[in-house]
Amino acid sequence: MVALLCSTTRGFEFETVAASSSSSSWVCFKKTNPNLFSHSPMARKDKANNSNKPKRRQLIKREEEVIGDIEDLFSKEDTYKIRASLLEWYDKNQRDLPWRRRTTQSGNGKNVKEEEEESAYGVWVSEVMLQQTRVQTVIDYYNRWMQKWPTLQHLAQASLEEVNEMWAGLGYYRRARFLLEGAKMIVSGGSEFPNTVSTLRKVPGIGDYTAGAIASIAFKEVVPVVDGNVVRVLARLKAISANPKDKITVKNLWKLAAQLVDPSRPGDFNQSLMELGATLCTALNPSCSSCPVSSQCRAFYNSKNDESVKVTDYPMKVVKAKQRNDFSTVCVVEISGGQGISLQSQSDSRFLLVKRPDEGLLAGLWEFPSVTLDKEADLSVKRKLIDQLLKKSFRLNPLKNCSIISRELVGEFVHVFSHIRRKIYVELLVLHLKVGMHDLFKEKDKKAMDWKLLDCEAVSNMGLTSAVRKVYSMVQKFKQNGLSSNSIPLRKRVKCS
Ligand code: SF4
Repeated sequence: MVALLCSTTRGFEFETVAASSSSSSWVCFKKTNPNLFSHSPMARKDKANNSNKPKRRQLIKREEEVIGDIEDLFSKEDTYKIRASLLEWYDKNQRDLPWRRRTTQSGNGKNVKEEEEESAYGVWVSEVMLQQTRVQTVIDYYNRWMQKWPTLQHLAQASLEEVNEMWAGLGYYRRARFLLEGAKMIVSGGSEFPNTVSTLRKVPGIGDYTAGAIASIAFKEVVPVVDGNVVRVLARLKAISANPKDKITVKNLWKLAAQLVDPSRPGDFNQSLMELGATLCTALNPSCSSCPVSSQCRAFYNSKNDESVKVTDYPMKVVKAKQRNDFSTVCVVEISGGQGISLQSQSDSRFLLVKRPDEGLLAGLWEFPSVTLDKEADLSVKRKLIDQLLKKSFRLNPLKNCSIISRELVGEFVHVFSHIRRKIYVELLVLHLKVGMHDLFKEKDKKAMDWKLLDCEAVSNMGLTSAVRKVYSMVQKFKQNGLSSNSIPLRKRVKCS
C-alpha cells in the first residue's frame, strides 16, 4: 500500500512516502521552489487540496502523525553538506567536455538570452547522445553535429536523412528524429526556446530527465535530474535496496534529488551528482576513499560496520528482460553491368540499397535488401525469400533480365538491438543486367519500396547503422580475399577499393 501526503508551508514542503512493505519507507523534508513539481501529479493534487481547506487540514494532521520519524530523510545538515561538498569537488574535478564549454562561454557578443539558448541546444543534443553511449564516443559525434548544425535554427533546416546519417552508429534513431522534429517545432513556432521543465516537456522526445537537464543547466531552474548515475548515487547515499526500476522507487528518487538540488547552482549541482556517479561512484568499483560525500553515505557506513555488506549491494541489481531472438538474411546485391554501366573501372558496379518503412524499428534508414524470419531456415528457403523480394520489388529476374555472376554466403554475425537478438546471415549476389538499369528500375512507384543504386565510394561515405556497416565491411573483406572457387559462374571479379 502506498500513502502519499503533501503540504506546503511558506516554501517548505513536507512529504511522506510510505512505499510497499517490501521496500524502504522514507519521509522527505525539503525546501522547494514552489514551481518544482508544477508539472507533476502531486502538484496538481496539492493545488486541488488548496481549494478544499477542511480536507487539507485533515491531510496535514495525518501527515504529522506519519512524519514522526524523520530518521530516513536527508537531514537539513546532510543536505547542506552534500551540496557544498559536491559542488566544491565538481569545481575542481569536472571533466572538460565540449558541451560544458558551451555553457560557460561568455563575452562572445551575445546577450544572456542568446547564450542561454545556445547552451540549451548544446545540453539537449549532448544529453540525448549520452543516453545512447559512453562520453568518449559522444564527444566525436557531438563535435561533428555542432560543426554541421551549430544552432537550433541550423538543425531545423536539416533533412531526416542528413540527421540519420550524422547519428549513424549511435543507435535508437528515433531519438535523432525527435531532436529534428523538436527543433522544427520550436523554430517554426517562432517562439523562444522553452525554458522550464513544463514547457520543455511539450517538445517531442523531451522527457523528464532531458527537460530537467536543460532547464537546470541552461536556464538555472531549480529542478532535479535523475539518470542512471544519479539513481546509483542516491540509492547508496540512502542505502536504498529497492528495485530502482520500480515506479514508486523512481518517483521517490526524484523527490530525493529534488530535496538535494542546490537553489543557487542547480545546473552545476545536478551535473556534480551525475559526474560523481560516472567517475567515482561507479557500478562495480566505487572509489569511496576519495568520495566527497562518504561521510553522508549510508551504504558506506553500513559496509564499514558490517563485513557482509558492500556498497555495491545498492541499488538492487535488476535482471534484464529476456531479448527476443530472430533471424535475418541480408542480400548485398551488386550490379556489375548493364546499359549505362561500363566495366572499365572497378568502381563501376553499383550496390542496391533500400529504405526501411517510416515507422517501426530503424525507421527511414537505408540498408541492403533483407528478409527477417522468426526461426532458422535452410539456405534454399532464405534464397527463395530473397529472390521473391528482388522480383517483386525490383523486377530482378535471372530468367529474364539479369544473369548471376556469383552468389555466395559471406558470413554471419549476431547484432543486439535493445530488445532483439538478431542473427544475421550475409550473402553477396553479383548480377549482370541484360537490360538497361533505367529500364529495370524505371517504375519507381512512390508507394513501393524506396531504393537507390550507389557505387562503393558513396556506400562507404553514407551514414549507415552499425549492423549495415558491419554487413558492408564483411562483404568488402570477402571480396578482398577473393571470391571462393565454387562461386556460381564467375565472369568478373569486382573489387572496391
Ligand atoms: S561513499 Fe562510496 S558508495 Fe557512497 S556515494 Fe561515495 S563513492 Fe558512492
